Amino acid sequence: VLILTMLFFWLLSILLSYLLSRWNMRPILKSWQQQQDFVANAAHELRTPLTIIQSKMELLLTKPNDKIINQMEPIALSLSETRRLNQLTRDLLMLARSDSNMMQVIRQPTPMADFLQQVIAPYSEIAASQDKTFTAQIDLTGAQMVDQKQIHQLLVILLDNALKYTQTGDQIGFKAYVRNNRWQVEVVDTGIGIAPENRKAVFERFYREDKSRSRQTGGNGLGLAIAKWIIDSHQGTVKVLGNEPQGSRFVLSFPIEHIKKELH
Ligand code: ADP
Repeated sequence: VLILTMLFFWLLSILLSYLLSRWNMRPILKSWQQQQDFVANAAHELRTPLTIIQSKMELLLTKPNDKIINQMEPIALSLSETRRLNQLTRDLLMLARSDSNMMQVIRQPTPMADFLQQVIAPYSEIAASQDKTFTAQIDLTGAQMVDQKQIHQLLVILLDNALKYTQTGDQIGFKAYVRNNRWQVEVVDTGIGIAPENRKAVFERFYREDKSRSRQTGGNGLGLAIAKWIIDSHQGTVKVLGNEPQGSRFVLSFPIEHIKKELH
């Protein structure tokens, strides 16, 4: 019986190693490793604001009779860290949903010029309030099938980044046009730019060229990962280029869909 059992396990191990070598396990192991890293990074990112809030609250409890006006710093800091946590959990939820194919893409015929105009409308004022200039040129006519909420979110991520990574006096540009039978959008800025060797990495989760700068401006390193998911979900492509003489240029390109039904 012992010999037969050993023989059985020996044959089983040969069979298993044969099957493992036949199936390409690398992509499965890689995505498993990526999920492990994602969870570890997420936990780490959640911990920082939580630690700050906890220490500020503990400090407040040591002075129960103090007036609020004398404790504005810990209260304001706790509030801004709470906002950060809120954004972080929203972004994590979206990425977790996209990983498990639970994100719905609800496309509807959208008159692009009007829609894009609405998305970019607040940016002239925001840029002006930071002593920057914002210019836009929209040469798109007709309608496209898009998930409006998601495309709105995608453009906000790119425009907010353009604002975050520029300084006083810089320029931000937005363009939309048709080229090679695709509709394209460009967000250009004259800011700090991205080193050519890092242009691919910016779409990775939690990637930040300068962590402290990104944190100061409220970033968590998930924006472009979400942007990439939205682009993919609309069968689009994205290129990150340098802007001359300085800054970044994000070029998005989407297939044109011919919509039969007339829009009213
Ligand atoms: P974050 O929240 O840090 O802005 P993102 O995922 O949106 O995260 O961007 C990832 C990183 O890519 C940023 O930390 C920054 O280093 C770089 N980046 C993104 N957009 C720009 C830009 N317009 N100019 C310069 N660097 C940028």
